Amino acid sequence: MDQIAEYGVIEALIGNAVFHLSAATVPAAAGAYVLLIRLDHGLDIDLPRRAGARLAPGHYLYCGSARGPGGLKARLARHMRKHKTIRWHIDRVTEPGAVLGAWVVEGGNECELTAALARLPMPIPGFGSSDCRVCASHLLAWPTDF
Ligand SMILES: [Zn+2]
Repeated sequence: MDQIAEYGVIEALIGNAVFHLSAATVPAAAGAYVLLIRLDHGLDIDLPRRAGARLAPGHYLYCGSARGPGGLKARLARHMRKHKTIRWHIDRVTEPGAVLGAWVVEGGNECELTAALARLPMPIPGFGSSDCRVCASHLLAWPTDF
């Protein structure tokens, strides 16, 4: 199945987001994004103070925000770059995975995006939401049969 053709399924959930294949076209504004990642191989994820988890091959969505210098453009350029220093949970997925692009919402909030995608499974509780008191995780799986 060509999941690229099914992006509309996600867009119907998250509303007025704009998809970007590359950070080059992303505005340097503050806001939130949904990163689309493909894993071609299973991936073991070990987080501090949590039992190990495994991500199966497939597509994943990660909701984040950027409010610092360079805004969304700088943040997404980092996510899409290889060989970065592992700093955030999501770096453990984007390094071995392929970042296919991101939906961007200028002025948006990552927890609102996560809530909009709540029908999708959350494969690892606590992943990417250490600073968040609302969401169980900011990483969602996108099953091919969704
Ligand atoms: Zn959150």
